Amino acid sequence: MDTPRGQDRPSRIIIIGGGIGGLALAQGLKRAGLGDVTVYERDESAAGRMQGYRLRISPEGERALRDCLPPRAQDLLTATANERHEQGLAAYDERLEPQWAPQFDDPRGDAPDKVDAVDRVTLRRILLAGLDDVVRFGRRFTRWERAGDRIVAHFADGGSDTCDVLVAADGANSQVRAQVRPDYRAVDLGVRAILSRTPRAKAIEAGLPETLRDRFVNVTGSNGLRLALMPMVFRTEPRPAAEKLWPGLEFDAAEDYYMSVFSVHRDILGLDDDTFFAMTGRELCDLVLDRTSGWHPDLRGVFAHAEPEETYPLALRATMPVEPWDTVNVVPLGDAVHTMPPTGGVGANTALRDAVSLCRALTSAARGERSLADAVAGYQREMVGYATEATEMSLKIAKWSMRKIDINETNLSQA
Ligand SMILES: Cc1cc2nc3c(=O)[nH]c(=O)nc-3n(C[C@H](O)[C@H](O)[C@H](O)COP(=O)(O)OP(=O)(O)OC[C@H]3O[C@@H](n4cnc5c(N)ncnc54)[C@H](O)[C@@H]3O)c2cc1C
Repeated sequence: MDTPRGQDRPSRIIIIGGGIGGLALAQGLKRAGLGDVTVYERDESAAGRMQGYRLRISPEGERALRDCLPPRAQDLLTATANERHEQGLAAYDERLEPQWAPQFDDPRGDAPDKVDAVDRVTLRRILLAGLDDVVRFGRRFTRWERAGDRIVAHFADGGSDTCDVLVAADGANSQVRAQVRPDYRAVDLGVRAILSRTPRAKAIEAGLPETLRDRFVNVTGSNGLRLALMPMVFRTEPRPAAEKLWPGLEFDAAEDYYMSVFSVHRDILGLDDDTFFAMTGRELCDLVLDRTSGWHPDLRGVFAHAEPEETYPLALRATMPVEPWDTVNVVPLGDAVHTMPPTGGVGANTALRDAVSLCRALTSAARGERSLADAVAGYQREMVGYATEATEMSLKIAKWSMRKIDINETNLSQA
């Protein structure tokens, strides 16, 4: 591991990426009193992007959010979370015959205020609350370089900024990682997915049976197709919740919905990537309806009412094995170091866990309790352990639900 020449008490921290992990870290550092922090985000604003809709929040993810957010933001999180608690995963075949499904222990039990799923856009707004002076939108990071003990970050607009610690929270296609570990790429699992959103009222109108309405439902068809349905029923809609709990904080109008993910191995899909990724939302919805034409009509109704403008294609990828970076003051966090397929519902939760753990490490180094090298090494050791477990679990579920992924058993057991 390289040793920085000094800077054992980092004071200026730059975070590249204002996604879930980067913003949680910024909140945590603010709460810990580390004031000189800037987040650079390439998006022009906080408005949502094509990055999914609903997020499952695990017990660890909820604990991390409560550790880093100020009390007012925590209240808002609880008030806007999914009202219908998951009663485990329900699995069916395409005729709606129940199948075996793995179950997950939730130590929170059925606590009425637990946060076990949230709307992603709402979470991002909550994570941004109070960070107006910290987050710079519309700044795309391009590269970094060393300047003595410090790191200079460069941006596409020609600007630059200097810091003691640069945090790579720039997601699965991390530009920071491209410089640190050009060899370190997420593996394409060969699975292609179509992500969409259907207003809940329309799905129910189309015949979604009562037994499926409030559960995480996984349907595996005999022809290797998979459909996952996840409800998002706001306990309170974000706008009225904010009016009461944080007046002035802006939210878009929101309605209850189902997030659906249709996935299939590309060999079964039979379309080349250029064709698949060029399809419009309408074409993707029609593709799902076509491929599921023999399925139970109650299941197909959800896609018949999916919003084409909220439908887009995805490739499932995973980083294997998860490895620490050999740097002290360029530090990875979240998908930048551990991309995992969404099948486990833990990628964001793992990024949140990283945020809390890295926040503690940087805070102890800033206070002179540990050297920066020790603090970052401790964080990376811990992170590699739980991120490896999370990736392995996500891959196993991908294998169970998809039947076919481009990773063999040997690789999986080493993950
Ligand atoms: C369909 C789907 C469903 C999912 N469901 C779940 C779930 O239920 N639960 C769960 O825990 N996880 C889930 N995940 C995974 C989760 O979305 C990710 O693991 C999580 O978003 C990772 O957080 P992050 O902060 O590392 O990266 P991101 O949230 O991707 O944030 C990265 C940020 O960096 C910015 N950025 C990128 N490049 C640059 C640059 N050059 N300069 C400046 N900014 C840059 C991006 O704009 C972005 O805002 C799901 C993923 C998908 C695709």
